[in-house]
Amino acid sequence: MNEAEILKRYWGFESFRPLQDEIIKSVLDGHDTLALMPTGGGKSLCFQIPAMVMDGICIVVSPLVALMKDQVENLKSKGIDAVAIYAGMGKREIDILLDNCIYGKIKFLYLSPERLLSELVRERISYMNVNLIAVDEAHCVSQWGYDFRPPYLQVNALRTVIPDVPVLALTATATQFVRNDIVDKLAFKNHKIFVQSFARKNLSYVVSADEDKHRKLLSIVKNVKGSGLVYVRNRRETAEIALFLQRNSIASDFYHAGVEKEERFKRQEDWKQNRIRVMVATNAFGMGIDKADVRFVVHLDLPDSLEAYYQEAGRAGRDGSRSYGVLLANKSDQLALEGKYKDSFPSSDEIKKVYHYLGNYFQLAFGSGEGLSFGFDIADFCKRFNIGIIKALAALKFLEHDGYITLSENIFLPSRLLFIVGHED
Ligand code: ADP
Ligand code: MG
Repeated sequence: MNEAEILKRYWGFESFRPLQDEIIKSVLDGHDTLALMPTGGGKSLCFQIPAMVMDGICIVVSPLVALMKDQVENLKSKGIDAVAIYAGMGKREIDILLDNCIYGKIKFLYLSPERLLSELVRERISYMNVNLIAVDEAHCVSQWGYDFRPPYLQVNALRTVIPDVPVLALTATATQFVRNDIVDKLAFKNHKIFVQSFARKNLSYVVSADEDKHRKLLSIVKNVKGSGLVYVRNRRETAEIALFLQRNSIASDFYHAGVEKEERFKRQEDWKQNRIRVMVATNAFGMGIDKADVRFVVHLDLPDSLEAYYQEAGRAGRDGSRSYGVLLANKSDQLALEGKYKDSFPSSDEIKKVYHYLGNYFQLAFGSGEGLSFGFDIADFCKRFNIGIIKALAALKFLEHDGYITLSENIFLPSRLLFIVGHED
């Protein structure tokens, strides 16, 4: 069967969404491929369909057990054989499962990146007829991303075991930094990159500067019909806000990583099935939750980053109907944000000081003929300038960007040494 036939037969969809077919073709042509698509854009099909077209099994690296289980259940419900290995499974169970992937007709094996650290798993994979390695949520491979997961770097170890298998990396992260880093860290060769528009036409973004956030929240919940999600910064607040909404006759509940697992799952289901209308949660709630008819996502506190905001607010309106992302920010939020940036970025005076300091070092080195590489004790370095480590690194990055110095790869060496390479002249 070809791609379109599989789409119809297993998924019952008539046509591809934008870029899906281009991405699928690229994979079938054997290219390493990076697919950037917004949340809800339909990334899963981009690896699931080519894997169905080809003989063999597709290995899917995925960061969350919940995501894996969701997708495995979903595939199984369509009559497609899929399995996942996750923490809590017995050794024997895993053994049997890996055997089935070698000898059986299983089409998808979902793994956490941590599993790739296991020699046993890698060895067994070398016996499988792997047709594709899919790296879902691939921004986790980048330290510039908002969700760096070092074990993602193990995908390369997998590539050495099955060298000729193409890799498809998928993410909703749009920044160029992260993009380049993924290509680099996954050792892409002969690769193609596809970027889907991140504009969400049906989603209105609103920032409200109301000092009384509770009152504002209530008015949003009362004025916008349908299901909603409220993000707050800490666990205590989730319970408080849920209670506040309940007292105002809104069916709501709260969710954070500290709630017992079964209970968490139950609440998630209640919200998905519209038995409760508003979920109040920390950012632990979200990844992999596929609810199409979320009408509003309200942030009561500032999110960690613009990207995190885009992801979280982007959970509204996946069905294409008019929806709202509302950020409630008052004066103290604004001051906190300004403070944070003041602490993170060095002033031009501070950059100059660092530069002069380095200049002295270079001269010394030229004198002694020692070459141009230096190591500094970061703690000492910061003390000397009376600045925090983030600022110090930012100053160095700035100088690097302008071509004055080159920072070595090992800038975060555990020995606390920071290496700097002077430029040639
Ligand atoms: P992403 O991983 O990009 O966030 P998903 O792969 O979870 O998105 O897909 C989001 C939703 O879109 C799913 O419910 C999926 O079934 C649906 N979908 C994907 N591709 C199509 C298509 N070609 N036609 C109709 N619906 C689709
Ligand atoms: Mg996805």
